[in-house]
Amino acid sequence: MAEVQNNMFTCPQCGEDGPLTMWTSINVAQDPDARRRVEDLSIFEWICPNCQKTSLVLHPCLYHDVANEFMIWFAPDGEIQDNTTDFSQLDHYTLRTTHTPNEFREKVNVLERHLDDRALEMTKLILIMQLSRDNVDVVDVVFHSIDTSGRFVFVLVHPDGAEQYLRLPPTTYQKLAQDVREYLYTPTHSFLTIDLNWAKDSLEMLKDIE
Ligand SMILES: [Zn+2]
Repeated sequence: MAEVQNNMFTCPQCGEDGPLTMWTSINVAQDPDARRRVEDLSIFEWICPNCQKTSLVLHPCLYHDVANEFMIWFAPDGEIQDNTTDFSQLDHYTLRTTHTPNEFREKVNVLERHLDDRALEMTKLILIMQLSRDNVDVVDVVFHSIDTSGRFVFVLVHPDGAEQYLRLPPTTYQKLAQDVREYLYTPTHSFLTIDLNWAKDSLEMLKDIE
C-alpha cells in the first residue's frame, strides 16, 4: 500500500507555503503509475501554487516490487533506521539502499530486469576506469537498458551535462556475475548500499582472490 505524509513546503522562489504530499512508501503492484513517477522523478516534485516553480523535494521513500522480489530505500540523508519492520521472512528478496535520485531509479531499472546489481556496479567501475585511461571525462555512468543484440547500454554523463550512449558486449558483466556468485558473500535480510564505492572495494577483493 502506498503511504503518504502530508507536510507544508515553502517555495524557494516566491516564499509561498503550500501543501506537500510525500510518498514514503510505494508498492508498484498496487500503484503501477508510481513506477513512472519514480522514472521521471515527479514523485519528488513540488509545484508552487503561486508561481508554478517546480522544486525537487527529496525525502525517504521505500519502493516495494512484490512480483520481482525487491525493496529499495531511497535515503537522501544517509542510512534508514527501520526497527519496526521484520524483513527476515523475505527470503528471496533483494534489499537495497540508494542515496541519490539517479541511483534510486537506476536500481529499480536493474532489479526489475533481474540483473545482478553487484556485477553491474563493477562493470560500470571498469568502464569508468577504461574511459579515464582514454582521457574521457565522465561524472556519472548510468545503466540504461539491454539492446536487441544483448549489449548493455549505458548513459555517460559528461562534466558539461552532455549525455552519450555507450554499448558494451555482455561478457564483462557475465564474468563478474559469475565471480560475485562464487567468491563474494553478500548478506541478505538487510538493506545494503551496492554502488560504485562498494564495487571499488569488492573489485580489489576479487583481484586478491584470483
Ligand atoms: Zn513560488
